[in-house]
Amino acid sequence: MSRELLVVQQTRKSFQTGKTKPLEYRIHQLKALLRFISERRKDIADAVRQDLGKSEYGTELFETLVLEGEIKLAIEKLPQWAAPRPVEKTLVTISDEVYVQPEPLGVVLIIGAWNYPWAVTLQPLVGAIAAGNAAVIKPSEVSSHSAKIMEELLPQYLDKDLYPVVTGGVLETQELLKHRFDHIFYTGSSAVGKMVMGAAARHLTPVTLELGGKSPCYIDKNCDITVACRRITWGKFVNCGQTCIAPDYVLCEPSIQSRVVEEIKKSIKEFYTDNPKSFEDYGRIVNQRHFKRVMALMEGSTVAVGGDSDESQCYIGPTVLKDVTGESKVMKEEIFGPLLPIITVSSVDEAIQFINEREKPLVVYVFSHDNKLIKRIIAETSSGALLANDCLVHFTVCTLPFGGVGESGMGCYHGKYSFDQLSHLRSCLIRKLNMEGLNSMRYPPHTAKKLSWARFFLLKQVNVGRLRRMAMLTVLIGLAAFVLKRFHQKG
Ligand code: NAD
Repeated sequence: MSRELLVVQQTRKSFQTGKTKPLEYRIHQLKALLRFISERRKDIADAVRQDLGKSEYGTELFETLVLEGEIKLAIEKLPQWAAPRPVEKTLVTISDEVYVQPEPLGVVLIIGAWNYPWAVTLQPLVGAIAAGNAAVIKPSEVSSHSAKIMEELLPQYLDKDLYPVVTGGVLETQELLKHRFDHIFYTGSSAVGKMVMGAAARHLTPVTLELGGKSPCYIDKNCDITVACRRITWGKFVNCGQTCIAPDYVLCEPSIQSRVVEEIKKSIKEFYTDNPKSFEDYGRIVNQRHFKRVMALMEGSTVAVGGDSDESQCYIGPTVLKDVTGESKVMKEEIFGPLLPIITVSSVDEAIQFINEREKPLVVYVFSHDNKLIKRIIAETSSGALLANDCLVHFTVCTLPFGGVGESGMGCYHGKYSFDQLSHLRSCLIRKLNMEGLNSMRYPPHTAKKLSWARFFLLKQVNVGRLRRMAMLTVLIGLAAFVLKRFHQKG
C-alpha cells in the first residue's frame, strides 16, 4: 500500500468519526492555524526567501496578511454561514419548514502551486476547515522550502489526523489523484488542471480549478497614464511577475505607447531602484526551468526597458517589450515572469475584439476615467474578474468570489464563497402529515379539475411573505376598528 493511499484512508477514517462536525472544533482548528501563522512568521518568511527571493515584509504583505484576514472572518462568521438558511416559500410549501442546510463534503484534496506557496495552499484550507471537512494538503514541490516547513510545522498546530500534509512531486500527486476524494481544490496551470479533472472524473469528484492565463490590461488614451502605469508596474513585477492575476500584456493605442513605456520605466526605478538585482524587494524566478522558459518568450520582440538577466541567480530584470503582435512568441502562453508586452490597437473596439478572440482570462484590467467605457468592456468581454484602475486588489476583497471562467478555471473561493464551495448545500423540506386533502390533486385518478388546481398551486407566482403581511395588516385593521367602535360606544 502506498504512503499516499494510507494517508487518504486514515484521513477518511478520522473524518467518519464526526469530529469535524461541531463548530467549536472547527473554530479551534482555525484559531490554531492563526496561531501557526503568527508564531511561525519567521520560518515562513525564511522559506519563501529561499524559494522566491522575497523579502520578509513582502511575504507578510502578499502571503499571510490576506490569509489571516480570511481566518478571522471565518471564525467570526462561521455560526452564521453554517446555520440553516430559510428559503422563500410558495403556495405549495406555505406550511412546511423549507431551508438549505450546509453540510461537510468529506475529505478534500488541496493541491497548491508554488508562486504564493502559503496563500494558495492554506487559503482553500480555511474554507475546508470552516465547512467541516477533512483535508489532505499537497503543497507544490517547486517551492520546496515552503513545502518542507509546512510538512514539519503544520502538524504541530492542526489535528494531523484530519489535515495531513503530503509532500512530493508529480508522481506523488498522481498517486494521490488515483484515490477517491469528496472534492479536489487545485491551483496551478491549465494543462495540469485538465489532468486533475480527468482523474477526478473517475470518481465523480467535484473540482475547483484555480488556473491562470493571459490577463489583458487596456489603457485608455485619456486616462491618467502616470498613475495607471505605476499601478500596472506594481501589479506586473511583484513576485517577479509570477502572479496568476498579474496583467499579462498591455493593449493601448499607438499614440500613447512611448508614454506608457516611459512611465513604466519611471515606476520601475521608483519601486526597485536603478539596480533591481540587488534590491531586496525584487524577487527571483523560481527555478532554472522557468528562467529558460521566460527568457525564450522574449525571442523576436523589441526590448523597450530592461531585458537583462543572470541565469546563475535566476534573475530577470523588469522588462517591457514594445510593438508586440498577437503572433509574437510572448503572446503564445501565459508569461508568468517579469516581461510586459505592449500591443497597439486602433481603438477600444479592436481591444475588445483582441480579448474575445482568445481564451477567457482570469482578469480583465482597464484603466480609464470613462465609466461608460469601463461598463462597455464589462458588458462585451468575459473573465474571472474585471478590475478597473488598479491591479490585483480584488484578491483581497473577501466579499468578491475569486476564480476563473473557461480556460482560467472553475469554481471560486474567498470568504463565504470558500465555505459554500466546500460544503454541500443540502435542500431540506419538512412537512407535516396533516392536510392530506391538498395532496389529492397529484394522486390518481388524474382529472382536468385536479390539473387546474395543480396549475394554480404550482404556477401562480404568489409572494407568500407579502400575503402574510397583508393578512396581518387586515387583522390589525380589524382589531383597530373593533377597539375604536368599543371606545365610541363607551363614550
Ligand atoms: P506547479 O508546477 O507547482 O503545479 C501545481 C501543482 O500541480 C503542484 O502541487 C504539482 O505537484 C502538481 N502537478 C504538477 N504536474 C502535475 C502532473 N503532471 N500531474 C499531477 N499533478 C501535477 O505550478 P504551476 O502549474 O507551474 O503553477 C503556475 C500556474 O498556476 C500558472 O498558470 C498560474 O497562473 C496558476 N496559478 C493560479 C492561481 C489562481 O488562484 N488562479 C494561483 C496561483 C497560480
